[in-house]
Amino acid sequence: MISKGYYGNYGGAFIPELLRPNVVELQKAFETLSTQEAFKTEFYSLLRDYVGRPTPLYKANNLSERFGAQIYLKREDLCHTGAHKINNTLGQILLAKHMGKRHVIAETGAGQHGVATATACALMDIPCTVYMGEKDIARQAPNVARMKMLGAEVVAATSGSKTLKDATNEAIRAWINRPDAYYLIGSVVGPHPYPEMVAYFQSVISDEIKKQLNQVPDYIIACVGGGSNAAGAFYHFIDSETQLIGVEAAGEGVDSGKSAATLALGTPGVLHASYSYMMQNEDGQVLEPHSISAGLDYPGIGPLHAHLFETGKAQFTAITDQEALDAALQLTRLEGIIPALESAHAMAQLDKMTFAATDIVVVNLSGRGDKDMSTYSKFLDL
Ligand SMILES: *Cc1c(COP(=O)(O)O)cnc(C)c1O
Repeated sequence: MISKGYYGNYGGAFIPELLRPNVVELQKAFETLSTQEAFKTEFYSLLRDYVGRPTPLYKANNLSERFGAQIYLKREDLCHTGAHKINNTLGQILLAKHMGKRHVIAETGAGQHGVATATACALMDIPCTVYMGEKDIARQAPNVARMKMLGAEVVAATSGSKTLKDATNEAIRAWINRPDAYYLIGSVVGPHPYPEMVAYFQSVISDEIKKQLNQVPDYIIACVGGGSNAAGAFYHFIDSETQLIGVEAAGEGVDSGKSAATLALGTPGVLHASYSYMMQNEDGQVLEPHSISAGLDYPGIGPLHAHLFETGKAQFTAITDQEALDAALQLTRLEGIIPALESAHAMAQLDKMTFAATDIVVVNLSGRGDKDMSTYSKFLDL
């Protein structure tokens, strides 16, 4: 589906000329290594023995009864470090190692990608610097401590709104100054080849679903921040009969002014070196997004999803903060599984649908809820 870095009209590499050699080097390395059997063997043995894959595809009987359908949960929450992000960071760290890179740069918002990157770097003994907005450092203290314990240097981005977008600018600047470093992006965003590469490393999710289910599901539902867990869950079903549903964060409501529903509110534009949908005002200024879940609090979306949206190959919805909280509590009480707030958005989509009893529905449970316990305590009055 991808041709020279474009999904239909979306994608590309809108980068400063100074970065062109870095990006071309990466494109070549990915094209060569990802087709080599030795590389794949190394990657898949790490996924098996270090991450704990395949993750279970769990038939949730209590949820199935509640919704009158066959509901399965893809348990990415059981991955090492508690979410799907480790699949991608391990793939990219292997690439970095084979490219002879001796330093890794990353940016993080909530710190989940920072932790997954610091984990991969500790494993491979490659030093890493993680850029993080000053405001996020203050509000995501447990993840900052995890990154530091893993040996990462955490650098505060102090410009602009002091959040993810500013950390991204700092990371790109650092990459320009240090072309020998490897820039490790955490979702299907950024310049080509990142969207394609991250989707490829995450595609193990749908590969496993296919084998575990042994039939084609009627629906696959996944939450969408940048879109990597959704891309991984959709990948091998994109041209099938399966109805693919991406769930964005509506925040306090799509029209509340406090939302992160990029496809509902956005228009095409260039964000983080890629042409896709983004939340922007008439002057092209990026709008500050809002979601109760830090992992979905992003004003852009990967170009693959922009293409799936426009071609109707996937459907996109939006779930509010409150609906996600309710769905998290419902899943916890029915199945004894505390989900990440991001994943709770995907769960909440079930409440919006009506099913036939024979419908097979797979929800990608992208992460576990430990990191969100302070938010749950506050809003669920625990
Ligand atoms: C980061 C994160 C997300 C959002 O990122 P995507 O690239 O859209 O998958 C979703 N769920 C969890 C648990 C996360 O940590």
